[in-house]
Amino acid sequence: MKISTRLREIAERLPTGCKFADIGSDHGLLPIYAIKQGIALSAVAGEVNEGPLEAARRGVLSHGVQDKIAVRKGDGLAVIEAGEVDTITISGMGGALIASILADGVTKLAGVKRLILQPNMAEGAVRRWLLEQNWLITDEIILEEDGKIYEIITADRQEEAKQQNDVLYAKRSLGIEIPQEWLLELGPLLINKPNEVFFKKWNSELSKLLRIYESILKSAEKEISDSKAAQVKQKANELEAILQCLQKVKP
Ligand code: SAM
Repeated sequence: MKISTRLREIAERLPTGCKFADIGSDHGLLPIYAIKQGIALSAVAGEVNEGPLEAARRGVLSHGVQDKIAVRKGDGLAVIEAGEVDTITISGMGGALIASILADGVTKLAGVKRLILQPNMAEGAVRRWLLEQNWLITDEIILEEDGKIYEIITADRQEEAKQQNDVLYAKRSLGIEIPQEWLLELGPLLINKPNEVFFKKWNSELSKLLRIYESILKSAEKEISDSKAAQVKQKANELEAILQCLQKVKP
């Protein structure tokens, strides 16, 4: 069975023998792959929309894994009972949506030991939720596939998570101090091993900020534009300085 590198990387982060729920499963590719590869014991494929739900049902039947994968319709974590799964994957959605799915279903996280999250954007919103809820990020990767850049964040429930998060998110000195706000955006583990894809993403974000800055300067509303322009320029300056330092410590 062929799946994307992105989904395979997520599957590789599932603990062997896990029971997991894939929320927003679309065609159910990840659960089908994980069961067929013998990685997971069982899975729930959750979908809120009828079309993808039907596609998942068909996929599960055609691969003959209906005794291992339950396809359920529902919003976010509503498709699982507390204690039913030990791992949850949520991928291919915006970070704000992933964070709100987790927040809305927080009572269903009892017994869940690992979250594997792949936001398409706003990764900072996911990391902020994890930090506030005392989940510890144990692995982060950034990869490019078909011209798109993805981050996969793995977080574990650990007894000492709060203390370990204090260390993970403490101001870092890499030539300059990197404040928590930037660690949430950039990834507290990704900055330890910034690869080419990391620099591609953040150099592009820097260019975007500079374009926004130029367009605000041209804006007609002078008073608003001056303060907004200053904010954007400061953000761009901070990012540029961080990227310069990271270039020096690049492995
Ligand atoms: N997870 C797959 C992947 O990474 O390739 C599919 C990603 S697809 C872009 C997002 C899926 O999430 C869609 O099928 C959509 O119907 C579903 N979805 C969006 N919001 C949801 C929610 N609140 N609960 C469950 N599924 C949701």
